[in-house]
Amino acid sequence: MINVTKCFLPPLEEYTQQVNRAFKNEWLTNRGELVLELEEKLKNYLKTDNIIITNNGTVPLQIALKLLANGGEVITTPFSYVATTAAIVWENCTPVFVDIHPEYLTIDESKIEEAITDKTKAILVTHVFGNPCNVTEIERIAKKHNLNVIYDAAHAFGVEYSGRSIFEYGEVSTCSFHATKLFHTGEGGAMFTQDEELFHKLFYHHNFGHNGPLAFHGLGVNGKISELQAAMGLSVLPYMNTILNDRKRICDHYDAHLDFNRLEKIKIRENTQWNYSYYPVIFESEQQLLQVQAKLNEAEIAPRRYFYPSLNTIEYTQGKPMPISESIASRILCLPLFVGLETTALQRICSIINAAL
Ligand SMILES: *Cc1c(COP(=O)(O)O)cnc(C)c1O
Repeated sequence: MINVTKCFLPPLEEYTQQVNRAFKNEWLTNRGELVLELEEKLKNYLKTDNIIITNNGTVPLQIALKLLANGGEVITTPFSYVATTAAIVWENCTPVFVDIHPEYLTIDESKIEEAITDKTKAILVTHVFGNPCNVTEIERIAKKHNLNVIYDAAHAFGVEYSGRSIFEYGEVSTCSFHATKLFHTGEGGAMFTQDEELFHKLFYHHNFGHNGPLAFHGLGVNGKISELQAAMGLSVLPYMNTILNDRKRICDHYDAHLDFNRLEKIKIRENTQWNYSYYPVIFESEQQLLQVQAKLNEAEIAPRRYFYPSLNTIEYTQGKPMPISESIASRILCLPLFVGLETTALQRICSIINAAL
């Protein structure tokens, strides 16, 4: 079976070497040597400061919303993974959906202002498939209306926009280091901010509010990652070039061999250094998608309908209709993309899809 993704595994001995360090230290969590080293290495790799590694990519969204949205309305995208919307509802905030751009698939920034009310506190939007939102325009709108911006950058590891790490945009950016993501620690994530004061608040919040062992800076939660997970991160990070090059090879193959007279693909925003994190294709109709999916499944190939459904249609969100997002969600399929996916398999996938169109 060829799945949509397969987690990248470093050589076992390299992982064991890292885990041995934790055993020698007899220290498994609470920001030990391995977590601190991984943070330093990530700062270097991503060319950015102020990172806090966390236990997944959802808790940092919750922490950022707790600090910056305070139970108010949050303008958000209906086209993302459910974690984006769920975090808003979980924090007792109200998601207010704004439809997406039909080609970039990120929020349609030209529709944000009409959704702002006197209860709006923040904008939480996703760099979908690593494709940056229109950060310049979103920043302008946020400044004008005094709103906080949080980016769900779960897909955007290593992406640069206008020569800067994508994680440097917004008050807070978050990332996921889940096993299926580009860079991973098994489970894990991170939050980033350029604001020193906010950095300290985020830091306290991810560690029960502790200010040293005996004092507290207010409320907090446990968002810490363990040394064992950092060991995975430290053994995956040296392979980032391999990972990116191989994923580029696969995307180039799809670009060259799929029949784009009958298919659409995502448009990556200008001035972006993209990360090849997903390969979505958009069909003319849901029926055509289902036909292609069935043919691929018959050949033991399992693409994934991602993202489906449009988040405004989930029962607990009670969102208004979002015609573009609902239409895209019904017609989009992510094709297999992982390190080691063989050219013969790629050829098979392309010919099955082209024949079924
Ligand atoms: C993966 C993902 C998350 C959640 O990350 P976890 O590490 O699984 O908690 C959030 N948002 C988006 C867009 C994601 O793809």
